[in-house]
Amino acid sequence: MTDPVVIVGSGLAGYAVARELRKLNAERAVLLLSDDHAGFYSKPMLSNALSTGKTPEAIINADAVKMASQLDITIRPNCRVFSIDKTNRIITVQDEERLSYEKLVLALGAEQIRLPWQGNGVRKILTVNDIDDYKHFRNVLAGKKKIVIIGAGLIGCEFANDLAAAGYQVVLIDIAAQPLGRLLPPEAGAFLQQKLEAIGVSFQFNATVKSVDQVGEQLRLTLADGDVMEADVVLSSVGLKPRIELAQKAGLEVNRGIVVNQLLQTSDAHIFALGDCAEVAGKVLPFVMPITHAARALAATLTGNATSVHYPAMPVLVKTPACPTVVSPPQADEPGQWEIASDEEGVKALFKSKAGQLLGFALLGKAVAEKNALTTELPAILK
Ligand SMILES: Cc1cc2nc3c(=O)[nH]c(=O)nc-3n(C[C@H](O)[C@H](O)[C@H](O)COP(=O)(O)OP(=O)(O)OC[C@H]3O[C@@H](n4cnc5c(N)ncnc54)[C@H](O)[C@@H]3O)c2cc1C
Repeated sequence: MTDPVVIVGSGLAGYAVARELRKLNAERAVLLLSDDHAGFYSKPMLSNALSTGKTPEAIINADAVKMASQLDITIRPNCRVFSIDKTNRIITVQDEERLSYEKLVLALGAEQIRLPWQGNGVRKILTVNDIDDYKHFRNVLAGKKKIVIIGAGLIGCEFANDLAAAGYQVVLIDIAAQPLGRLLPPEAGAFLQQKLEAIGVSFQFNATVKSVDQVGEQLRLTLADGDVMEADVVLSSVGLKPRIELAQKAGLEVNRGIVVNQLLQTSDAHIFALGDCAEVAGKVLPFVMPITHAARALAATLTGNATSVHYPAMPVLVKTPACPTVVSPPQADEPGQWEIASDEEGVKALFKSKAGQLLGFALLGKAVAEKNALTTELPAILK
């Protein structure tokens, strides 16, 4: 009997590959391992669950047993992979159990970065990167009022909007001078800030948190400039780092993420990677759309039809209902400049090359209506 295709990870990437593979081949043995419960859910829902009235339990679409029967695959929840022996195509899971694979797919996701803060309250700083974190967050929120969020990136702004709309008092702190500093030009950042302020979010920009201390029931944040603020709950959303350790230990090439080519193949011909853990042809894109494209291509490759992944332009919708926002950032180091038109109803920011080619955009407020038309003008992210 041939060894199975083994998928490690039960996030959107792991399940997308399993689903696409089943569409192409009903027979191939597939084993999916996950160090969590392996329930299927859409992670983006975590940052707008309060406004959409979802409890953490209601976010999970199907548990591991249901997914196994739906996809006709074997699933082992709570099963961590500790090492990969790529020469003999064997992985080791807990209790030293060894499992053989024919092809191995790493869909390991990314970790929330924790900065080196000082203070005895640091262990109380929460992060939300999966449904279990979110359950804990919701439990801690009960009866609390003031929430400080460190990091005004995509996830920080989304949580700020969700919490403020649900009646919490929210302060968003960032080292930059505006929200979504990596995605928006300053005019657009100012517009988003104003809309979030209108629903009660306060901002503290150009600010670095130095320490977090527990004082009674509260947490006290001390900033680098000496400013102090109190919070009932502190949520950190300062960025993600791809999980590369397992691949690195196995001697696979890693950089920011697990290095793969457009076939999603690592430096070992039998091992593949996709999703938040992967660096595909030099790009780390921790979003849902790249996973959808990668999973389709990888399923074809795994079933014998070697297929490269191509990424079209993939604008990201920021889930801040107080300020509808969609961004398609230009690729790093791309020369060009922003052309910005704004009024009290929205901002249309177009990033263009010297020759006038549209390379990226940020649309806020009523300008989001132009998303589809502008997307057709954008170059592909990966040809
Ligand atoms: C709050 C939030 C909101 C978001 N909103 C959006 C959005 O609106 N739009 C968008 O495009 N993207 C959004 N994203 C990003 C998007 O959700 C992710 O890109 C996507 O879910 C990543 O899926 P993944 O399968 O690669 O990783 P993950 O979901 O992190 O899954 C990794 C899996 O690997 C398992 N695992 C890891 N190591 C091991 C091991 N050694 N052994 C066994 N199992 C292991 C983990 O348990 C987990 O099951 C959001 C992210 C967050 C956190």
